[in-house]
Amino acid sequence: MQIRDRYAPSPTGLQHIGGVRTALFNYLFARSKGGSFILRLEDTDRTRFDQSFVRNLYDTFSWLGFRWDEGPDIGGRAGPYVQSERFALYREYAQKLIEAGAAYYCFCSAERIERVRREREEAGSKGLSRETGYDRFCRSVPAAEASARVAAGEAHTVRLKIPLGESTRFHDELLGDIEWKNEDINSDPVLLKSDGFPTYHLANVVDDHLMEISHVLRAQEWLPSTPLHVIMYHSFGWEPPAYCHLPMVMGLDGKKLSKRHGATGIDEFRRQGFLPEALINYIALLGASYEEGKDIYSLDELAARFSLEKLNKAPAVFDYRKLEWYNACYLRRKSDEDLAALLLPYAVDAGLFAAPGTAPDQGQTAVFTAAMPLIRERITFPGEAPGKLRYLFSEPPLPAKEEFFPKKADLGRTLELLRSGRARTKSLALAADDESAEASVKAFAEQNALKLGDLLMPLRVAVTGSRVSPPLFGSLRLLGPEKSLARVDRALAYLAGGESAGPR
Ligand code: GLU
Repeated sequence: MQIRDRYAPSPTGLQHIGGVRTALFNYLFARSKGGSFILRLEDTDRTRFDQSFVRNLYDTFSWLGFRWDEGPDIGGRAGPYVQSERFALYREYAQKLIEAGAAYYCFCSAERIERVRREREEAGSKGLSRETGYDRFCRSVPAAEASARVAAGEAHTVRLKIPLGESTRFHDELLGDIEWKNEDINSDPVLLKSDGFPTYHLANVVDDHLMEISHVLRAQEWLPSTPLHVIMYHSFGWEPPAYCHLPMVMGLDGKKLSKRHGATGIDEFRRQGFLPEALINYIALLGASYEEGKDIYSLDELAARFSLEKLNKAPAVFDYRKLEWYNACYLRRKSDEDLAALLLPYAVDAGLFAAPGTAPDQGQTAVFTAAMPLIRERITFPGEAPGKLRYLFSEPPLPAKEEFFPKKADLGRTLELLRSGRARTKSLALAADDESAEASVKAFAEQNALKLGDLLMPLRVAVTGSRVSPPLFGSLRLLGPEKSLARVDRALAYLAGGESAGPR
């Protein structure tokens, strides 16, 4: 069988974690089977439709970097892939259901439908009736009379005739065999609205059939629609696709993932500095397990491993901390050049090289790229980089004097230590690498009976402006002997009282 699946979003909102998870699983499933992954825009709800949501969809997926094989933007053999361009088809298929006696015309006004719904709800709340929704009033209008009323121009909808007194069964690849009493299915749902537009149910089923969709992988919230879709397939005389309703995605509190838990829109994650690779890797694990002990997967590795058997029945829990962990991992895996290219715009915006918005000169670019090993392990988001590297491009402000003091040392001792540190500064700045710098300074500390940490603390603060900074030896090498010495001298003068006291 040719495997074909689809992501069928309604452009009535921004792309969020849930939607992208559905798209990604469909993509991975199609890839894993050598099948085709299709994008179909389900824009039948014209009141909530907005073109900006379509743009957001394309932007999101081009940023994430995975693509469909057929879709509105690239075409394909089963197009058009936008439902609003297929309205004539839906009318034709609704007509077929009427002719087969599987659907009927309904002439009830919106007011009547609303009144019936309310009355049934009230009766239900008093325990008098279990029935909800529409009362199937027009189901008993004789077909000839209904056709005559339609021909005379009377306003109408088309409703599906749910067979009563029966059950509908289908198999879900994850949840197993499912059976619904037909009485519990949405009571004779509308397929074609009075303006001739299809509802989701009609358009979705007709398109899945005509587009030869073999597998429907979709969010669990659609499960209640599936029995009526299956009834429609049978009414048309078509074979339903295989269904797989994906595990829910919850917040850490066990409630369905929503705004309450934090960002859910892909745009928001992007703005915060999450990388597409990190998001994809993390989202691919929401409800699926691949291999024990392996966390990092490229898109190709995921596609090679994905299968419906690897889905979990239990809801997935969205853990923002874990996503941050992925982001840090993916930042760490980048080469110096790639990482610098990624971080540079943040540094430019933050005014690292001159006024904000000013690009670096060649020398600054070289230093910035060479500084990547100093921060690679120390950032979770690109936006953290400028603050950590500012001292390489401009003199850091002098902190309070106590900041220079190693544990248990006073000002006098700190000055002695910094003078010793000054004597090593030039050779450290000229050392070939961390190892040789460390070896030489260690030997010096031992000879002079100094604790290495005590020796380096005031030097670190003098050079970087902070007790917690990127590695000192690398910083000294990047600054070079002259700048490094000038900073040490400035700190010595300040500590000795030559500079006006207090932080600047
Ligand atoms: N248009 C529906 C949605 O917005 C599609 C559901 C389905 O996959 O059948 O998710």
